[in-house]
Amino acid sequence: MYLDESVESLSGVGPKTAATLKKYGIKTVRDFVYNLPRDYENYNSPTSIAEMQPGKVVIRGKVSDLKTRQTRRRNLTITEGTVSDKSGSVSVVWFNQRYREHQFAPGVEYFFTGNFELRNGRYSLISPTTAETTYIDPKNGLSPIYVAHGGLKSNDFRRLMVKSREIFASIPDMLPSVKHGTRAKALFYAHFPNSLKSIQGAHDYLAYEELFELILASQLNRRENDKLQATALPFKAEKIRELVASLPFTLTGAQRRAAWEIFQDMGRTVPMNRLLQGDVGSGKTMVAGMSAYEAFLGGAQVALLAPTAILASQHYEGLRRILEPLGMKIALLTGATKKKPELKSQIYKGEIDLVIGTHALLTDDTEFAQLGLVIIDEQHRFGVEQRQKLMLKSPAGLAPHLLAMTATPIPRSLQLTVFGDLDVSILDEMPAGRQPVATSILAEVETKDKLYPKMQEILQSAPDAKRHGAKAHGQQIYWICKAIDEVADSKTSSGADGGQAEITSVKKRCKRLQEVFPQARVEFLHGKMKPAEKDAVMEAFASGEIDILVSTTVVEVGVDVPNATLMVIENAESYGLAQLHQLRGRVGRGASAAYCYLLTSGALKPSRRLLELARSNDGFHLAEVDLKLRGPGEIYGALQHGALDLRIASLSDTKLIARARKDVSAFLQKPENMVQYRELMGGITKYQQITTLN
Ligand code: ADP
Ligand code: MG
Repeated sequence: MYLDESVESLSGVGPKTAATLKKYGIKTVRDFVYNLPRDYENYNSPTSIAEMQPGKVVIRGKVSDLKTRQTRRRNLTITEGTVSDKSGSVSVVWFNQRYREHQFAPGVEYFFTGNFELRNGRYSLISPTTAETTYIDPKNGLSPIYVAHGGLKSNDFRRLMVKSREIFASIPDMLPSVKHGTRAKALFYAHFPNSLKSIQGAHDYLAYEELFELILASQLNRRENDKLQATALPFKAEKIRELVASLPFTLTGAQRRAAWEIFQDMGRTVPMNRLLQGDVGSGKTMVAGMSAYEAFLGGAQVALLAPTAILASQHYEGLRRILEPLGMKIALLTGATKKKPELKSQIYKGEIDLVIGTHALLTDDTEFAQLGLVIIDEQHRFGVEQRQKLMLKSPAGLAPHLLAMTATPIPRSLQLTVFGDLDVSILDEMPAGRQPVATSILAEVETKDKLYPKMQEILQSAPDAKRHGAKAHGQQIYWICKAIDEVADSKTSSGADGGQAEITSVKKRCKRLQEVFPQARVEFLHGKMKPAEKDAVMEAFASGEIDILVSTTVVEVGVDVPNATLMVIENAESYGLAQLHQLRGRVGRGASAAYCYLLTSGALKPSRRLLELARSNDGFHLAEVDLKLRGPGEIYGALQHGALDLRIASLSDTKLIARARKDVSAFLQKPENMVQYRELMGGITKYQQITTLN
């Protein structure tokens, strides 16, 4: 089918464009037509330049006098020029978007959308997005905006779409029994809307299609899983009781329940496929440790996969303390591990009972004698292929039991409908003595008066008794930097520019805090550092050699530094609720009181999101709130929901979910469907976590 053909077959796509597209995952004609706009601009009634008011404006005009200059600040260029229409002219400015200088054909009119505001004493149009008037239907003025990929900007995608306009008509439907519309129309109107209603219609169709695929994949996973054979690892009550008694704390009721559910599953010959959901700090690692011990007692090996080296080594240290005295042999396998061949040979011979590691675990030469249980921490950080790689390491003909763990709660309302293939255990109870993180919303201007004194107090507080790090002077602080530097235009700049701006802002903040707290040891961490550098900084923070860690969101995942008791999140409005909750979970892990400050610009009243976060520490409650706040009608927003990445549908589309679920059940009644709907069956492999093992 032509949808499977390479993008080179499209008109206007030469080898260079094709290479860029492919680099960003747009390989086939199908990928191309499904590369949906991230939003739409409405150029319906542009303002004349003479009548512009401060704030967001849309104007139509020609550009002249474009010049780019380098500022004294490193990494910042400013491109300035003039936009004119019949009524007058206005100065326009872009930051770090040098390509703008060569973007505009002379004498051609473009639309400009951006903020008209005061800058250096005069009103200018700041970082507007642009569109060629030729590509916009003058009747409705709607223009799609695409995510820029490398050298290909939104307008380039627009141009390519226009060139391929006629291929849409012949796109066949992929699903059976869709009552409203056709795929050809939905995809066409997504790229060439003729009204707001047509955009909504396209969205509904494509969201339904996506949900259908997801639910079908989930149901087939369950079928597939139930056909597989695993080694039954029967429950050894006496031994488990010994383990529990040896722990330095009492298990929570939720930990007991989850462990019990896991032991039941592991006792069967159908492989376990269970998701352990628990809010940050709820003690998932301990449940993983108990499961590993249970597997060991049954004579099986265990692999525990963690997303980062620092997390792997934390698990290693923590579990070793508890499990080694009980006779388990435990090893750490990360990129930094020395003597890998020796270790791998021990694993192969079955001399190691539990291997904890990162991606290094996945290489082909890591072979197990008797892999019976796979545990994946922060499972959403791993792709389908990576999970499969590990699953295939079990002895021929046998599948390992799978325990996936996540701190991102899936709202209960969705567990059955969308994730029907997973059994779910929930840790909905915090270990005793854990205090909620006192969360305040603070305007940036209050930093000096309200935040700095608090930071000083934390830095001088006695270290938390439960700290692991012996080198701490006082308690420690995380400072999370702005997601994106104020000057970088997040809409149009490519990821690379954004990354650069992030580094600048982290370093700047680090320097500033060092000035404010000259006695403190301040360090920074960002995503562009080499993994080994990142690990070194994290290690130093964990052991108390750093007092204030200035970082981007890379600290988000699972790190446990109980002596860190204060977190500052700059630009808090720019994060989603789930992410804020995850970030905040890095503090409040010890016995001391913990604090979180959400810094806002102060220009607006705090959003519902921030108010809810300040009010509640319950991840499940916040997940439900988040779902409600997003509401339906979020059009083509890249919705990240931890466990899955829905590109189109929103998990709050409950009616659509119910309909898709019903239709999938009907679909599965007819085995011949699996053969007939080949495109659908091919497409869902991207969601599948289990392939037939052999
Ligand atoms: P998460 O669920 O976020 O992965 P962890 O497993 O890292 O949480 O546990 C957080 C901290 O709580 C760890 O320091 C761990 O030792 C501790 N912990 C786990 N279970 C209990 C418990 N039942 N009582 C007290 N502390 C516990
Ligand atoms: Mg964890």
